[in-house]
Amino acid sequence: MVVLASPSGGGKTTIAKTILERYPEKFGYSVSATTRSPRAGERNGEAYHFLTREEFADWQKQGRFVETAQYAGELYGTLKSEVEKVLGSGRHVLLDIEVDGAQQVRRTYPSAVMIFILPSSPRVLVDRLLQRKSESPAALLERLDRAMYELRATTIFDRVVRNDVLEDAVNDVVRIVEEGGGWRREQGDIQWFEAFASGLQKERQRLYDELHGG
Ligand code: ADP
Ligand code: 5GP
Repeated sequence: MVVLASPSGGGKTTIAKTILERYPEKFGYSVSATTRSPRAGERNGEAYHFLTREEFADWQKQGRFVETAQYAGELYGTLKSEVEKVLGSGRHVLLDIEVDGAQQVRRTYPSAVMIFILPSSPRVLVDRLLQRKSESPAALLERLDRAMYELRATTIFDRVVRNDVLEDAVNDVVRIVEEGGGWRREQGDIQWFEAFASGLQKERQRLYDELHGG
């Protein structure tokens, strides 16, 4: 079980997609359930299982989730059936999830490989999110606020992968999984996250001012 987590825009979806395309015989993806609306090009059952709130609550009652979390006002959850399907086929299962869910996975599956992904600079993170054009300005600011919270929850992750050059990040993740994971954090990681969070705060302010004509 491989957990890829990062603030929004960190690159986990891109990294997961690249790994799945390149190594379909080794890796499979756990398609999550969510109550958020599909983005352009997202197909039901592929990007997510898109559920109504009522359906999500029913599935929760039926015990179908490994973990669930709320993010930007919407519900997200990893399905047991998805995880079992991939593990049953003898492949590693990739989970692209936020940190509260990652924490639940850590408790339930202590041997999960937990990887936190981040570009080196907050400016790059914000620029990538802007380029993705998938959120309204208000949703984008909300995601940046959430990123501040996520940067304080990084101690549960065994490894940190910098996503500057995509190719390097993909290779790093694959290598870590093939090594079997295990805790290996660099000295100064926590200080880096703190500096990143304060840089991100400034980027958020810059964006807010731009959006509000300040
Ligand atoms: P997440 O899933 O963590 O929210 P995405 O994978 O959607 O992030 O990446 C955010 C944006 O950044 C996307 O538009 C993606 O194409 C781009 N991106 C991701 N990694 C890189 C990279 N290493 N170099 C340049 N652009 C990247
Ligand atoms: P997005 O709306 O951008 O697809 O995802 C928003 C956040 O929810 C991302 O951090 C993503 O990793 C996370 N997420 C997606 N699926 C799940 C899930 O099944 N469980 C949890 N806890 N988070 C998820």
